[in-house]
Amino acid sequence: MDQHLGGGFVDINTVHRYRWPTRRNDLRLAPGETFLAGGSWLFSEPQPAVTGLVDLTALGWPPVETSARGLRLAATCTLAELASLSGTGWTAEPLFRDCCRALLGSFKVWNVATVGGNLCLALPAGPMIALAAALDGTLEIWRPDGTQYTLDAIDFIVGPSQTVLERGDLLRAVDLPARALTGATASRKASLRPLGRSAAFVVARRDPDRRFTVVVTAATRHPHRFRFDDLPSRHELRAALDTITTWYDDPHGSPDWRRAITLHLAEQVRADLAEEAVPR
Ligand SMILES: Cc1cc2nc3c(=O)[nH]c(=O)nc-3n(C[C@H](O)[C@H](O)[C@H](O)COP(=O)(O)OP(=O)(O)OC[C@H]3O[C@@H](n4cnc5c(N)ncnc54)[C@H](O)[C@@H]3O)c2cc1C
Repeated sequence: MDQHLGGGFVDINTVHRYRWPTRRNDLRLAPGETFLAGGSWLFSEPQPAVTGLVDLTALGWPPVETSARGLRLAATCTLAELASLSGTGWTAEPLFRDCCRALLGSFKVWNVATVGGNLCLALPAGPMIALAAALDGTLEIWRPDGTQYTLDAIDFIVGPSQTVLERGDLLRAVDLPARALTGATASRKASLRPLGRSAAFVVARRDPDRRFTVVVTAATRHPHRFRFDDLPSRHELRAALDTITTWYDDPHGSPDWRRAITLHLAEQVRADLAEEAVPR
């Protein structure tokens, strides 16, 4: 099984079974099977334990559904589809593009990589977790026994490449409530190299009722979210961020540097949103 992505062909020569599910019952994984969404990670490195793929894109879920309650992003919504979303009327709309841009893939990656794949891969630099957590997203998870549950996006990722999902669980959708979509948003990203993976990604939201939310990802082992009743002072924001103890350490940045740059970026998004005309 191979796919052409960005730089070249990547073979997964252990795969001998490929399924196109059409209904929920088809989603029960057999031993060795795994869910395939865009494949931008699955086909990027050897997967010796994978002998079968279940292609979620065959389910034909609408990528984005709008209603008075807000927006529902299917797990299979691609980054390209999300980034091109316009005319929703929500003030938070620019954040979709900002978060997609935080993933520095070519257009080929953007055209296949999905919201769900990004969340389930759970890299600290996964920008879809920042988006979902900053907009108070709720995740709908389907269990193989036919049940389902929802959970706050901030609770989905428990560590690098680790989510709450158990074998066979499927992320169906991310629901973004209208209340959060009416906020003004700002984001900042830092990398060691101009085209490097995010070492720190900070997203903030200020609501019409003045409340302020800030989310830190990429710099930490799992996402952190802080809420304030009004715009925090520089000191209050810093005191909140100083409670973080899970600064991440990998070739994209040391924990000390990540902490320092996160404080800097957080102050920038705070300043951006301080200038927003928020009615009292
Ligand atoms: C050049 C390049 C740059 C990249 N940069 C980044 C980056 O900056 N940040 C980052 O986070 N990632 C990055 N990636 C990794 C990857 O492309 C993205 O995380 C992408 O969003 C993964 O989505 P996908 O749909 O391609 O997932 P896939 O590769 O199809 O799947 C990823 C994993 O998630 C599981 N999965 C997928 N969908 C579901 C679902 N709905 N329910 C349950 N399990 C599911 C799959 O079984 C698999 O284990 C990069 C990749 C490339 C090639």
